[in-house]
Amino acid sequence: MPLQIKTFSCRSDNFGFLAHDEATGETAAIDAPHAGPIIDALEAEGWRLTHLLITHHHADHTEGLAELKAKYGCTAYGPMAEVDRIAGLDELLDASHMLDLGETRLEIIETPGHTLGHICYFDPTGLSLFCGDALFSLGCGRMFEGSPEPMWEGLKRLRALPDETMVHCGHEYTIANARFAMSIDPDNGALKRRAAEAQTLRDAGKATVPFRLGDDKKANPFLRADDPGLMAKMGMAGAQPFEVFAAIRKAKDSF
Ligand code: ZN
Ligand code: FE
Repeated sequence: MPLQIKTFSCRSDNFGFLAHDEATGETAAIDAPHAGPIIDALEAEGWRLTHLLITHHHADHTEGLAELKAKYGCTAYGPMAEVDRIAGLDELLDASHMLDLGETRLEIIETPGHTLGHICYFDPTGLSLFCGDALFSLGCGRMFEGSPEPMWEGLKRLRALPDETMVHCGHEYTIANARFAMSIDPDNGALKRRAAEAQTLRDAGKATVPFRLGDDKKANPFLRADDPGLMAKMGMAGAQPFEVFAAIRKAKDSF
């Protein structure tokens, strides 16, 4: 049986996610923006938290960790490279690890840049990606700690996943991301469609997450830094893709 996934909002614009294995009853929360909404979501489903999967050390992804561990005695997993920055981790992960959640084996993908140790969790059978603040719908996380080349390499690892992958990212940022993307890539039909779809969803009070990775590959400028057309639009034909990525990231920071 594939994992059952529940998406809900936390804090102002964070998402919380639960992944549940029906056969064993094991249930993971991906990130811990705030304990309250996660507890509410668990209780609404009648699920018991056994795993807490942290993507990176920022407070809006870890603040509920201590309270959830105290309440459920769950095991907290997180990035090995951020062990000094996240209190209460029990198991440390990098790309050499797999993580079993009931009958499903999750892969760990390293995506440094937003934070240096940022990791993502990927279910290759159910095709679900939990990517924290590494990748957003039509955008990516701000580069707080890393440098452009490893961050671009991390995004390429995510881009290499199957088109049918459903992306569960940490924030509802799609409308603002679409506005920026349209400013640098206004003739991209796939982007125009995604921007319009996102607006329709938001107008109806619905979330734009999760979204299909294949759609984002064609529309998200941060996944298209090696596209010759976009490179030319950035005035960077012939540059290294990571340099184009850096220029797009910088432009977004001051947009
Ligand atoms: Zn963050
Ligand atoms: Fe965040």
